[in-house]
Amino acid sequence: MNHTPATLSIRQSVVELCQELSRRGHFSGTGGNIALRIDAEHIAVTPSATDYLTMVADDICVLRLSDLQQVAGARAPSVESGLHAKVLRARPDANASIHTHQPVASACALLGRPLAVPPGHMQTTLGRSIPVVGYAPSGSGWLSSRLARALRADTNAYLMFNHGVLCCGPTTWAAVQAVEDLEALCQQQLLQAMADRARLEPDLQAALQRVADALHA
Ligand SMILES: [Zn+2]
Repeated sequence: MNHTPATLSIRQSVVELCQELSRRGHFSGTGGNIALRIDAEHIAVTPSATDYLTMVADDICVLRLSDLQQVAGARAPSVESGLHAKVLRARPDANASIHTHQPVASACALLGRPLAVPPGHMQTTLGRSIPVVGYAPSGSGWLSSRLARALRADTNAYLMFNHGVLCCGPTTWAAVQAVEDLEALCQQQLLQAMADRARLEPDLQAALQRVADALHA
């Protein structure tokens, strides 16, 4: 199956998707990786530590979904292959899984708080809320197990505490839309948090002044 036109075209899609995510600013350096389902038994995964701009279809690894046995591709697969496999095994409706360190959502992932998704088109791409997956080191079985426990049938985006993001979708472009919507949602929520803080600040200042005045009375 390694050289069927469908497999070759999916491996080429992985290359193009990595380059597109890099152009859109969601992948930085070699940080970020993806997996696309080829068929019921196989997935195509980004190779480890490879420059997206020089990557070619032959670099893309083909792994058996059940045990991550590599069946094609000269390079070593991404250390996050196990993470993607958990998603694609648990969610037969999902055919694409994307892991990024996209800037604003990764900042939200540092806060460790789940996000509510406002009613509207974002609930279609993302789900109604974005859970936080507890921290575990990159590439570890511990991390993929933690993500697996957080996976829900109706949720296509997950914040990984102190790390980054995992998005999935029924198609490649649905998963990309989840990446983009999550970034926009995190931007809205961070700006709102800053505005709330600024509104609170005068009250806080006044309260501190009253305490200072009382101490010096
Ligand atoms: Zn990562």
